[in-house]
Amino acid sequence: MKIEIIKCLQDNYSYLLIEKENNYACVIDPSESDPIIKYIENNNIKLKFILNTHHHFDHVGGNKYLKKKYNSKVIGFKKDKDRIPEIDICLDDKETWKNEKFEAKIYHIPGHTSGHICYHFFKQNILFTGDTLFSLGCGKIFEGTYEQMFSSLQLIKSFPKDTKIYCGHEYTLKNSNFCLKYDKNNSALKEKILLVKENLKKGLPSIPSTLQDELNCNIFLRSKDIETFSKLRDLKDNF
Ligand code: ZN
Ligand code: FE
Repeated sequence: MKIEIIKCLQDNYSYLLIEKENNYACVIDPSESDPIIKYIENNNIKLKFILNTHHHFDHVGGNKYLKKKYNSKVIGFKKDKDRIPEIDICLDDKETWKNEKFEAKIYHIPGHTSGHICYHFFKQNILFTGDTLFSLGCGKIFEGTYEQMFSSLQLIKSFPKDTKIYCGHEYTLKNSNFCLKYDKNNSALKEKILLVKENLKKGLPSIPSTLQDELNCNIFLRSKDIETFSKLRDLKDNF
């Protein structure tokens, strides 16, 4: 299975998961269709599935056109079926979805939105976290409560430490400034920042991260209790 990172809009990432033997692919969170079509056409990909983590425009913007063009199936959270454009397959919390060689378990992780989910491709141990967990940050709480976001992050913390984290945006460098301000003596964080800067300088994404890196460096995952977490989330909103 190959993962192609596709830059979309300003700072979004969509991801193509490609099965090598037949070029079947899933796209995760197509913000827009053009950059994805470009890759698909250049590489002879057959887009079978469109997977959404949540209903925000910058994650579903390409659904309609891609579905129409490639006859793909749109997949999303059951309870968000009225907000995910063109949804075909509705999945429930902790359901495992399997088709062709693609196999992922989904988890409901509310907070950023009430219907946010993540996709764990457990065989490859990769996790698509949308706008819930970013590298060195977490999503804004738009629809949920601090408690929900905190417990969604706790759930993510329980995945294997070598899980590769693919999130919805390239916010890592901006996030790192916040982490550093409130976690000055974290040497793992400082090392991570050097690597991130090196990648970005070369025009490469800072993604994927690993859960281990995030556990070591991400101040929101390092928050021990809901009070600390909530305070940091407020501070970040005004950072
Ligand atoms: Zn969002
Ligand atoms: Fe987003």
